[in-house]
Amino acid sequence: MMKKTITKKSVPYTIDLSKIDGDGSFPCPKCGTVISPEDETEEVYKIVDTKVINDELVELVVVCEKCKSSIKLTGFQPTIEGLASE
Ligand SMILES: [Zn+2]
Repeated sequence: MMKKTITKKSVPYTIDLSKIDGDGSFPCPKCGTVISPEDETEEVYKIVDTKVINDELVELVVVCEKCKSSIKLTGFQPTIEGLASE
């Protein structure tokens, strides 16, 4: 079951997508696995939490499937808003 509200537990890594060039993919801060927001297979990462304000995705927490690190993503562009709705 997924809660709507974001939990306040600390997430060790934060990635600001607005500071990343290209298609928004980035290496996992811990193990280096490339995580692409456009990859929706959930083989590389899994979305565990989302924060939506005024129908806009502002924050996403993903877990790297390789090393199980939680990574908080901020700085979303409108182009990847689709991730918020399944
Ligand atoms: Zn990792």
